Amino acid sequence: MTIQMHKKLKCRICKKTIKKNNFKLCLTNAPLIDDFILEDSSEQEYLNDINTCKFGKCGVVQNPSNRNLSEYISTYGHFSSAALLTKTFMSKMCDNLMLFFKEVNGRDATSVFEPGPGDGVKLAYFANKGCFVIGIEPNQGLVEASMNSGINTRQGLFNRSTINSTDYLSFDIGVTSYTFDNCTDPLGFLRVANLMLKPNRLIAIEAHDLSEIERRSEYCLFEHEHIEYLGAHSIEELLRFSGLRICRINPIDKKCIRANSLVKRACKTATPFEGIYKPAQRNPKNNSQCNNFNLIINSLVARVYKWVEQKSEILVGCGAEDRGVMTLTQLSNTQNLKKFLANEMEAQMGKCS
Ligand SMILES: [Zn+2]
Repeated sequence: MTIQMHKKLKCRICKKTIKKNNFKLCLTNAPLIDDFILEDSSEQEYLNDINTCKFGKCGVVQNPSNRNLSEYISTYGHFSSAALLTKTFMSKMCDNLMLFFKEVNGRDATSVFEPGPGDGVKLAYFANKGCFVIGIEPNQGLVEASMNSGINTRQGLFNRSTINSTDYLSFDIGVTSYTFDNCTDPLGFLRVANLMLKPNRLIAIEAHDLSEIERRSEYCLFEHEHIEYLGAHSIEELLRFSGLRICRINPIDKKCIRANSLVKRACKTATPFEGIYKPAQRNPKNNSQCNNFNLIINSLVARVYKWVEQKSEILVGCGAEDRGVMTLTQLSNTQNLKKFLANEMEAQMGKCS
């Protein structure tokens, strides 16, 4: 596939032009996580550096590259609803939002939308409570999987074209998991979400928490597909600018929340602000500044590499999911590590040898 690279890079939020001191982390020669080619294929593998930046004006950590991934995204089929923890989380999230909606609005919610619903499992919990549901999903295969399980799903990206039809303008609840931090126009995404809700209606956004990514040195999460890295302060400010006021952070039991997830539950209180984005409050000093990101992450990669090199045995790295691919891809040029792309089930069954 051909991916276009545009030279002039700007912040996706405040539109500031990128400067050298904005670069916080570089992972070199990284592939796309869901674009596998066979070893004997004549197709060229896509490899490029992932540069992650932080802009002083808005404070949002992001990958500013303007690569056009729309063709790839339409075939990108990653979802994680098979895990029991994920299903428990989705079920509890549904219960929480339905209950809170009733407290605020004095009636049961009757309609729910989800940008990036994957195979539609989360929406099914709402549908089972009698709600009209609709998912907006770019991947054709996932749209079919979702429709086959009875979940109304439209193929496409979540953007202005979503609300061309007035049928999309009066929902009670919006919910989305790990989709907002992959979108190339975060303020556009929140604007559309706002316009699909009436005042006092709810939205819940699940994203990876930057402070947890940093605390755990999770370099595997820095992918071409992952665009924004959001902490609590960044999401709150972006929501506020988009007319969505935070009601609760992590509204369900932390034990049921996935890994480094940050869940924000917000109410629509206004129409989105117009003009250039500016946070109302500066990022608190105790929040992540990402200043030593390159050092911390690359030191970790170097330590893992050294550990692999010191082994007398040949090690096998398995993984065809996003984190597995990114973990292995930074451990190149070592003779002691044979890398295999396999899903977890195949690895457990010993098919990888
Ligand atoms: Zn900015």
